[in-house]
Amino acid sequence: MNIEMGIRWMELFNEKIQNEKDYLTQLDTPIGDSDHGNNMSRGMAHVVKAIEEQKPETLNELLKLITTNLLSKVGGASGPLYGSAFMGMMKAETAGEEWAKILKTGLENIQMRGKAEQGDKTMVDVWIAVVEAVENGELTHELIDEAVEATKPLKAKKGRASYVGDRSIGHIDPGAYSSGLLFHTMLRAEA
Ligand code: ADP
Ligand code: MG
Ligand code: MG
Repeated sequence: MNIEMGIRWMELFNEKIQNEKDYLTQLDTPIGDSDHGNNMSRGMAHVVKAIEEQKPETLNELLKLITTNLLSKVGGASGPLYGSAFMGMMKAETAGEEWAKILKTGLENIQMRGKAEQGDKTMVDVWIAVVEAVENGELTHELIDEAVEATKPLKAKKGRASYVGDRSIGHIDPGAYSSGLLFHTMLRAEA
């Protein structure tokens, strides 16, 4: 990952989020409060606008800009969680870590804030699968889709979806889906 790829990543991610905004909201309807599409769409619109205005020149500046905008503009549970992820990534980047370790630190920060474990039916499920695959140099689009789809049969243990108990079973987790988009676009930006 470098600054050019990073900017391209955020542009592609924003495009996906805007195109799939309604689907994200649809996923957040049976097991949430129907705002995940709006939350992510608002946050990513601010991220790309800030990139255009501030023209970050290093990966670290970019990660900082993403963190600030996600924390302050997304709202809900997902804003602080995605914000924590990018803040952790920024710190690991400052420490000179390689990309796999940077992503892993992002995951650790999501878990530090949200306390979700694997199988709780959250974005964490997708981050765990992706971090492991990146460490082994085997991240593929297929693996990402499988990790997102694997949240469907689970019963939610964290976040709003946990309020509906057994009725969360049979639905893909919205944050897992948006994280899937994040990593699909990361692969495309790196290509
Ligand atoms: P809210 O639930 O506050 O309306 P969003 O709808 O934007 O926020 O985001 C919901 C997503 O956030 C869920 O689908 C899930 O992936 C993620 N999430 C919620 N709580 C947690 C948590 N404690 N740890 C990890 N992810 C979580
Ligand atoms: Mg919601
Ligand atoms: Mg909400």
